[in-house]
Order: sequence, then structure tokens, then C-alpha cells
Amino acid sequence: MSSKPVPKSVLIVGAGIFGLSTALAIARRHPSTKVTIVDRLTPPVEDGTSVDTTRCIRTDYGDPVYAGLAEEAQKKIEQDPELSRFYFKQGMSFVVDGTLGPMLDLYRKNLAAIKARAAQGLGSDPIEMTSTEAVFQSIHGKTAQPVSDASLGRRKRWNAGYRNMDAAFIDAKECVRIYYERCLEQPSIVFRCCVPVERLAIAGSRATGVVLENGETLSADITLVAAGAWSNKLVYLDDLIVPSAIEVAWVKLTDEEAVKWKHMSITTNFDTGFNLFPPYRGEIKCLRRSAGYRHTVLIPHPEDPSKTIRTSLPRTTVTNPGDQIPLEAEKALRDNLREMMPQLADRPFDRTKLCWLSQTQSADFIVAPHPRLAGVHVATGGSAHAWKFLPIIGDLVMDSIEGKLDAKLAAKWAFGTKKTKEGNAPRVGGAAQELAHVVRSRL
Ligand SMILES: Cc1cc2nc3c(=O)[nH]c(=O)nc-3n(C[C@H](O)[C@H](O)[C@H](O)COP(=O)(O)OP(=O)(O)OC[C@H]3O[C@@H](n4cnc5c(N)ncnc54)[C@H](O)[C@@H]3O)c2cc1C
Repeated sequence: MSSKPVPKSVLIVGAGIFGLSTALAIARRHPSTKVTIVDRLTPPVEDGTSVDTTRCIRTDYGDPVYAGLAEEAQKKIEQDPELSRFYFKQGMSFVVDGTLGPMLDLYRKNLAAIKARAAQGLGSDPIEMTSTEAVFQSIHGKTAQPVSDASLGRRKRWNAGYRNMDAAFIDAKECVRIYYERCLEQPSIVFRCCVPVERLAIAGSRATGVVLENGETLSADITLVAAGAWSNKLVYLDDLIVPSAIEVAWVKLTDEEAVKWKHMSITTNFDTGFNLFPPYRGEIKCLRRSAGYRHTVLIPHPEDPSKTIRTSLPRTTVTNPGDQIPLEAEKALRDNLREMMPQLADRPFDRTKLCWLSQTQSADFIVAPHPRLAGVHVATGGSAHAWKFLPIIGDLVMDSIEGKLDAKLAAKWAFGTKKTKEGNAPRVGGAAQELAHVVRSRL
């Protein structure tokens, strides 16, 4: 492990959880290092992956490395007087349809890991739900009966599960706002918002900063690319990261419904990928960890302007305000609602969006120096699970920049490490569809 000199200046591209958390870590460690955060928009960035009504905070990973980090991060969230105001610890249920396969294996592995941790006094014992009725009643109460297979037109898929009462949900947008405001309070941090970065400023084998879309150049000792699902535009990641999007929808509730379901847990199905959040601010959010959608475009090669590359990049409701989720995505959400929230299955969605992921095949992040360009570090690949590390990820990124990241983490998050198939997202198999073929717009 080698320690590197403290950079005098750091440019961070991206004000999501990776970027903001790293900026604060730098300000804490090295108050004289000048930090500039550049973003396309002002935080909380409306179409950034870190910004949403809710995110899950949980520690029940099968992988002990993420479980340990998640536990540390969750404690910090609970102890943070501002973040904890937007944190709701009412558990998470993981459900399976019972079909033998990788999702049942993952479910069993995670359940065994929680039980083992509970046996050591680390966390609560999971509450097991051994029947379809028990799963349904965990939301609707002891006397409620699930809808019939006949009315669904298929066999039920929410058949057994466990409820982990240590998990929580959090208002992601408000917490990003809190981190943004904390950055604004630091004399060493400045923001350059609403001017996107066009490309890295490259001189030989070193990047000296970035070139903005308005032609201006910003220079720094280190440029950190923390641009989430947009990172492929700025560094050549080959197909280490596939920017893809999954569907999210919100349904407005009556006051009575909001009270009735107030104490439910986040409820997710490993096999269908569906995820249902408890009522928050008068609405229920649902999403599906589907194979997702790509938006393939032809762009200049980020590191060699004489070439072009084809990659997926986000198409969002900021760039395309009329976009709605594709029809088949809506049908899949409604099919799950019909089984678990029959009252809501045919209710109009208040709004929908595709949420873009910087997805690695293994769901391991990439936090590492660029292998070909000096002066560049990458912190991306958050996949569908990085948000919960908000309070600690910045220090880990800074450890990496300073060459002192724990060796196990450095290996896990290396740039270019062969990624394995095992991961936690997406949960539903199949290839991402090309969005252009299925896009729906109101405009
Ligand atoms: C539907 C969904 C559900 C999820 N649920 C959970 C969950 O329950 N729990 C959990 O822990 N994680 C969850 N995640 C994952 C988590 O939200 C992400 O891993 C994390 O937010 C990624 O943060 P980021 O900083 O990499 O990206 P972002 O938040 O997208 O930040 C990147 C920023 O870079 C900026 N940018 C991009 N290009 C440029 C440019 N050229 N110039 C200037 N700025 C630029 C963007 O505007 C953006 O603000 C979920 C993700 C999705 C999509």
C-alpha cells in the first residue's frame, strides 16, 4: 500500500452520492485542497440516480464485505441528526416464488447470512413467512386473503419470504440536499452547476482537468469522474459498465389507504424484481429490477477524438419531459400490484420514470485510478445499491485516491477487473431492451 501526495486541487464531475460524499471527505481530511464539483444541473439533480423519493437502507448482503460496510453506513445515518429525520426503520420483506434457480439460491444465502449474524448478536432475527397468505397478510393484516390464481390469470408468485426489521427507507432527495448544503458550507468546495463537462482535458498520457460544453477548461491535480450512468461519455469503460434504466412509478393514495399501510415494510420479490415502498407523503412508489432499457448512441471516443464509440447513455425526463415508462414495463408493474396491492392495480400512475443505473455485471463499484490516464480517478458503477453508503463512500474514494484503500476493497473495485456474473441487480434475467424501440412519450 503506497500513500500518494495530497492533491492541491480536485475536480469532481458529478454531484450524486459518490461526488458529494467524496467532496466532504476531502474537506475534512485536507481543508486546504481546493475542490470543484461540476454538474449538468444543480443538486439535488432531478434525473440523477441518487435523487428519488425513497431508497432502501439495509445490511443483509450475502457478501460480508458489503454487509460490513452497509452496517457502518446505516449506523452513521441513524446517528446523523439531519439524515435521521428522513429515515424510517420499518423493515424490508424479501419474497420468492419458490422456483429453484439463482434467485432462490441468493435468497437462501442472504437469509442464512442474516440468521448467522443474528446468532452472533448482530441484528435482529428475520421473521419468516412460509406461505402466500403470510406474505400477503404482512401488508394487509391477519385476516386478509390473497387474490385467487383464477383472478390473476396465473399462479401466484409471492409465496414465501422473510422480513428483516433492521432495514429502513430514506428520503433520498432530501438527504442529497443535506449533503449539497454541507458542501456549500465548506470554504474549500465550490460548485460549477448547469454547464456539462464535454470531455477530459488530455495532454499525452495525463488528464489535466476537463473541458466544459461552453469551451472553458477547468484544471486540477486530480479529476474524479463520478458521473454515474453518464460516466461512459467521459472515460472509456469498454463494457465494464452498462448504463441501463429500470422502471419506477408512483400511485397517489387516499388518506385512509395511507394510514392503513403506514407500517408496512418495503416489500420486494426476488423473482419478479418488483419492489414496493411503504406510503410516503401520500403516495406509494413501486419499481421493478427488470433487465431494463438501453439508449444506444454514437459518441466521440472519450480518450481518442479520432474515433467514435457506441454506448448507452441516459435519456431522462429532464431531456425528454414527455417520456413515460414503456408499455410492457407498466404491464409488469400492474401485474405485481394486482397480486400484492389489488386495490391499486388499475389506478392511474401519478407519474413514472426510468431511473438510470451505472450497472456493472457483478454490481461491484469501480473506485480506482484510471489505468491509462494519470490524474484521473473513477468512482462509479454504483449499480442498484450504492446509495446506502452515502456517509462512508467518500472516505473510501479518498482512500483510493491517496493509495491507501484496503487491499480487499481495492481488488473488488478495481478498474478492469473481470466482473463475475454473481450480483444483486438486475434481478430479472434477459438482456436490456433498446429504448428507442419501446419508448412512449406524452408529447
Ligand atoms: C430505481 C433505483 C433504485 C435504487 N435503489 C437503491 C436502494 O434502495 N438502495 C441503495 O443503496 N441504492 C439504490 N440504488 C442505487 C443508487 O441510487 C446508485 O448506485 C447511486 O445513487 C449512484 O450514485 P452516483 O453518484 O454514481 O450517480 P448520480 O447520482 O447519477 O450522479 C452522477 C451525477 O453526474 C452528473 N453528470 C453526468 N454527466 C455529467 C457531465 N458530462 N457533466 C457534468 N455533470 C455530469 C449527473 O448530472 C449526476 O448528477 C437504486 C438505483 C435505482 C436506479
